[in-house]
Parts: sequence; structure tokens; C-alpha cells
Amino acid sequence: MPAALTSVAVYCGSNPGTDPSFGISASSLGRTLAERHVGLVYGGGHVGLMGAVADAVLAAGGEAHGVITEALRAREVAHRGLTSLRVVGTMHERKAAMADAADAFIMLPGGFGTLDEFFEVLTWNQLGIHAKPCGILDAGGFFGPLRAMIDGAVTAGFVHPAHRDMVVVDGDPADLLDRLAAWAPVTAGKWLAPADG
Ligand code: AMP
Repeated sequence: MPAALTSVAVYCGSNPGTDPSFGISASSLGRTLAERHVGLVYGGGHVGLMGAVADAVLAAGGEAHGVITEALRAREVAHRGLTSLRVVGTMHERKAAMADAADAFIMLPGGFGTLDEFFEVLTWNQLGIHAKPCGILDAGGFFGPLRAMIDGAVTAGFVHPAHRDMVVVDGDPADLLDRLAAWAPVTAGKWLAPADG
């Protein structure tokens, strides 16, 4: 029986995106986290998909913990109803605090900030800085092009196939959480064998 997840960091857009399925997936993930008594850690805003996840967690009686920078608190309009809101000085502190507080990470559709945050914690797995499951909730097929990009990086010799495969991709929040709870750390080395010659 895999260890139960207690706290999951969710990275997602501070905008809602154009496809209604993004918000539906965000809310569904939030509800599922609350039903399973898994705490949400996220960027602390009430806007976009970030707000949708947090609202759904809270509406279902769950715990939502935000981590936001002082500068972003005004711009993103911090969520006022959270279980806790930690205000930090820098983006680096924010990312480190979120990574420390969570025992798994999920990316939903989003922009550069979302991609940056997710790929940072993913790369920490391949460098052995931590060993925590990373999953993508693929709403509306949004991540198809990114998955193709990653496949291309494997083919081109930049990403170990085992590191590509450690990213759990699922369209269903409950199935994704089950798979993250069952995840086993990858032991493949970061550096691929040099080509002959
Ligand atoms: P976005 O996906 O760009 O809407 O951003 C989603 C979240 O990522 C928001 O909480 C942003 O504050 C955060 N974010 C934006 N840029 C960065 C960055 N360079 N490093 C870390 N987080 C960021």
C-alpha cells in the first residue's frame, strides 16, 4: 500500500484560460483533494485557475495554504479565505516554501510561471535534491504539445527516458492522485552516455 499523500502543491495559471474545461478540471482537483483530506499548497492568489482550485478545496471543507510574495500580494490579490497565507520576500523563497511543504506536485494549464515552478521541482528529482512525485492534470488536451516537446528532448538525447516517464500524466484528478501516491523514485542518472566516437 503506497504512503498516503498529505499535502500537494498545485501549479496553475493566474489566468483562467480560454477553455472552460481548464476551470472545471481545477475545481474537480480541488474537490478531490478535500475529499481525500489532502492539503493544498499553492501560490495564494484568488485569480484564475489558482483561485478556482483553492475555492473548490475550501468549499468542500478542505485545507488551502497559500504562499505569496509581498509584491504579488497586491497584484494577484491574495485569497482572503485561506486556511493559511504565508507572505515571503522573494520568488525563490516562495518556490522553496511550496516545494518543502508538499509531498507531491501537480501542474494544471498555465503560463510561464506555472511551467517554471513545475519544471523546477521536476528537475530537483533528477538531481536527487528531493524525491517527490510530479504529475500533470491534462485538461482539454492542453499539454499535448508539451508532451511532444519532451518526447523530442528524449529523442534528441537531452532527457533520459526514465526521467520523461517519471512524470505522471492523467486527465482525471482521482486517478492522478492514486498514481502519484503509488509513485516510486527514479534512479536513472542525469547524464546520458556520450555517443560513440
Ligand atoms: P502563470 O502561469 O504565469 O499565470 O503564473 C502562475 C503562478 O506562477 C503565479 O502564482 C505567478 O506568481 C507565478 N510565477 C510567475 N512567474 C514566476 C517565476 N518566474 N517564478 C516563479 N513563479 C512565477
